[in-house]
Amino acid sequence: METYETLLAAVTTPDGGLPVTDPATGEVIGRAPERGPDDLERAVTAASAAQPAWEALGHEERSRLLNAAADAVDRSAEALAHLVTREQGKPLNGPGSRFEAGGVAAWLRTAAATPLEPERVLDDESGQATLSYRAAGLVGAIGPWNWPALIASWQLGPALRMGNAVVMKPSEHTPLSVLALAEIVNQVLPEGVLTVLSGSGDLGAAMTAHPAFDKIMFTGSTRTGQAIVRSSAANLPRLTLELGGNDPGIVLPDADPAAIAEDLFWGAFINTGQTCAALKRLYVPEALHDDVVDALADVAARMPMGPGTSEDNVLGPLTTTDQFHIVDKLVEQARAAGGRFVLGGDPDRDAPGNFYPTTLVTGLPPDAPLVVEEQFGPALPIIAYTDLDDALSQANALDVGLGASVWSSDVERARQVAARIEAGTVWINKHGTVHPMVPFGGVKGSGYGLEFGAEGLKAVGVPQVIAT
Ligand code: NDP
Repeated sequence: METYETLLAAVTTPDGGLPVTDPATGEVIGRAPERGPDDLERAVTAASAAQPAWEALGHEERSRLLNAAADAVDRSAEALAHLVTREQGKPLNGPGSRFEAGGVAAWLRTAAATPLEPERVLDDESGQATLSYRAAGLVGAIGPWNWPALIASWQLGPALRMGNAVVMKPSEHTPLSVLALAEIVNQVLPEGVLTVLSGSGDLGAAMTAHPAFDKIMFTGSTRTGQAIVRSSAANLPRLTLELGGNDPGIVLPDADPAAIAEDLFWGAFINTGQTCAALKRLYVPEALHDDVVDALADVAARMPMGPGTSEDNVLGPLTTTDQFHIVDKLVEQARAAGGRFVLGGDPDRDAPGNFYPTTLVTGLPPDAPLVVEEQFGPALPIIAYTDLDDALSQANALDVGLGASVWSSDVERARQVAARIEAGTVWINKHGTVHPMVPFGGVKGSGYGLEFGAEGLKAVGVPQVIAT
């Protein structure tokens, strides 16, 4: 049975390498190997050599091995969760790192189980045509620091199921969780099929410009997504870009504030707000405004924040000091714009760790930076509206469109409103609840390409039509 200590020792280097800090304390918990261009060449060579045999195994055998990999994750789940907590900050409990480790196994199992049958697209007197998907070949995956192990599983599960080999580059802030995940799943995978290269600097750019990659998957900022489009242009690998957003939630006048408050809270504050599809601005009818704000503040006030290793906490620190400063600046701009602080907005900037308190702000103008820029942290602006069309136009005004939500006691009415929102997913009476069978992806500046379910498998394959 793996422990946190044995898993950490397996993925850290004794000296040199990238220091990885615990965001709750600032303590260096280990050092990740710092890989460079030679390591990338070696990984590409090994992956290219291993891929044909992996593809030749067929869907059934690859699915069996992915299920065995999920079993291995389950056996090491507690150690992996502990590592995610120490490196990324989210608490063990609540929708935290134990939830993340469980999600990794669930996503691997679903990638193994999802059927993908050839599709007969023409069958008449003029002929027959069938559309099916082959492996793309070599997949390069670049991941973020907010859900490092879970998002790695979103990338590697479907890619491996489809018969690809994968070279993965984790965020420099959270490389250990992804190295640990590879250490665990490589107990059952053939050599060379999955390699994780930790590093910083130019490694990501070197991967996306490398001609060996047939597919690049990236989850992170819009700015880096745009750089990937540019650096991959010469080779034209297929791209899946999941670039975050600024998800709106719209409460309709018939919603019950007490009934929706807890789901609103977790929609916005899961992982201390550091989630691509978190609720990042909330539009509430004028008449319900105070009741929604009070109900949300009641829930927020009973959610303890502190070091994630304590079993009592359900909210942790921000993962990086940069992210702390982004949130701090947006909140201070909100104060200057006349925002009213219902809760929070008063971080202890001298205390150890990147803790930013849960913050609720009302009374902001629609163009306040906290409303129109992605905060990626625990500060939610709540904006009153009197006219639903106006709320919808504010919701649609930004150049991103990952998720959104509509909150109502009348689901049919909510569906009609949902259809008017420019977002890849619109949830009703919940927010950000991704599911491994349900396609997920953004529109506008939130990127393109779908993940999860059969569509996610197709996105890491290449289509082939056979016509007679
Ligand atoms: P980024 O999202 O900008 O991504 C940094 C990663 O991308 C690193 O691994 C880096 O590798 C790689 N990279 C950089 N340039 C290139 C390139 N040209 N081609 C390929 N890869 C490249 O990370 P940040 O930590 O800077 O986060 C910034 C913001 O992104 C956050 O404030 C937040 O708003 C958002 N974000 C969104 C997430 C989401 O889930 N969608 C998750 C995390 C953050 P290397 O170091 O080798 O250059």
